[in-house]
Amino acid sequence: MPGNRHHADNSNGESGSFARMGMNYNEFRSAAQEIVDYVINYHQSLEGKQAFPSVKPGFLRELLPWNPPEHGGQWEDLLEDFDKIIMKGMTHWHSSNFFAYLPTGNSYPSLLATMLVDGCGSLAFSWATSPACTELETLMLDWLAKAMNLPACFIHEGVGPGCGVILGSCSEGTLMTLLSARNNALKQLSSIYPDVAQHELASRLVAYTSEYSHSSVERASLLGFTKLHKVPVDKIVSMRGEALQRAIKEDKKAGKFPFYVCATLGTTSCVSFDNLDEIGQVCQEENVFWLHVDASYAGGSFICPEFRRHMKGIEYADSITCNPQKCLMINPQFSVLWVKDRKRYSEPFKVDPSYVRHDEEDVVIDYRHMGVGFGRRFRSLKPWFVFRLIGIEGLRHRVREDVKMAKLFESLVNTDDRFEVVFPVELGVVCFRLIIYKDDTKKSNMINRQLLKQIKDSKDVFLISSEVEETFFLRLCTGFNACNENAIHNCWNVILKHTDLIL
Ligand code: PLP
Repeated sequence: MPGNRHHADNSNGESGSFARMGMNYNEFRSAAQEIVDYVINYHQSLEGKQAFPSVKPGFLRELLPWNPPEHGGQWEDLLEDFDKIIMKGMTHWHSSNFFAYLPTGNSYPSLLATMLVDGCGSLAFSWATSPACTELETLMLDWLAKAMNLPACFIHEGVGPGCGVILGSCSEGTLMTLLSARNNALKQLSSIYPDVAQHELASRLVAYTSEYSHSSVERASLLGFTKLHKVPVDKIVSMRGEALQRAIKEDKKAGKFPFYVCATLGTTSCVSFDNLDEIGQVCQEENVFWLHVDASYAGGSFICPEFRRHMKGIEYADSITCNPQKCLMINPQFSVLWVKDRKRYSEPFKVDPSYVRHDEEDVVIDYRHMGVGFGRRFRSLKPWFVFRLIGIEGLRHRVREDVKMAKLFESLVNTDDRFEVVFPVELGVVCFRLIIYKDDTKKSNMINRQLLKQIKDSKDVFLISSEVEETFFLRLCTGFNACNENAIHNCWNVILKHTDLIL
């Protein structure tokens, strides 16, 4: 039957592989080799590649059939379609013209691990389902916590009683900790106010975060049915202890129960840092139940001692989320949540059906208690490969290079007095804007919007904007694989060219 691969022969003598794996061994070997070549060629083409594609919404619908194929087809056709159709609409996050978003890790050690993981095809929701997966996860998160110099309580092999867990996203970590804190707080409040109904106590719970925390904090409060009090920030977009304490006291006066604070180390808008040291002290003074730290982007940089000043006060944290998939050369999805007290965190979520119980549960971590998902991929192989082949010193070098590129761009902006760098450049992000109408916010925002649109439409480089206190600015992120001095100089020249066109 032409085009029907389910009738393909096993003439290479490797009978059996086709029916269950969709290809026989030789077909897979040769296709995998082609994929490796394709990926290398792709990486070699990233220099100067247009970062955002020239497609309109719905382009794919016109190029792919509306119904799935009834019969399997040929590998060569599939690879060709990927190249011609899918690639047409891909954003090239590692192109030398991509400066738009906080970076996403991508390295060969991580890619190799992904291939092995999917090759083995094991899941690990408990130690008993695949011991190596669970034990490597515990060890890798201990390694990373040590590399970042986190307090020992977050390290499973240290004084504990905390540990790390790999989750799909930082958003999930924030949601889970908020839910855990909510449950634990309600339990405690119920014992203090035995005559007050649970729903009444729950309606009085309040969580706190800064006005500039990531949208995932607001999302967590919505999903967790709790009020969120957004605390104003100071001039450098930092939530300070005093402002938090004022908000907490106000709410307490109104009969509310402050139970959860989320502080951000490295905001998405401008990579600013909440004052964790002050916030931690306020949480203690005011008996706030849980202090969570969102270090999604900046967390990875704490492997370098010189950036650790930003995490002063980390010992107050009950939990920390971080995305090593952003700047530590690990492919997504690899988000980490560390909790100070594993039992306290996961107790409210414990469900123990007999089909997952096993004899070793008292001596090992069963990660199914620590996240939303039940079936869990073997994600810890990626950091193991990256740590083993690149080393922490290699990762430090990469973080520093990304910061160096941001500093280079900052120095270029500073050479032109029509521009200003809006916030201090701490890591690999530069916020900048045209200041020719500096004293007129409306006009200033308009000209900067115009500049961004002009650059975006040209597709010369891919940049996005951000806004703080109604000030609109452009935001450049380094950290993608093709980021180097040439890319930075080219980006600046593109910005100058378009500035001249609009002025
Ligand atoms: N928190 C901060 C500060 C972020 O910058 C981001 C994403 O960039 C997130 C949370 C969300 O991370 P995730 O996509 O892993 O949920």
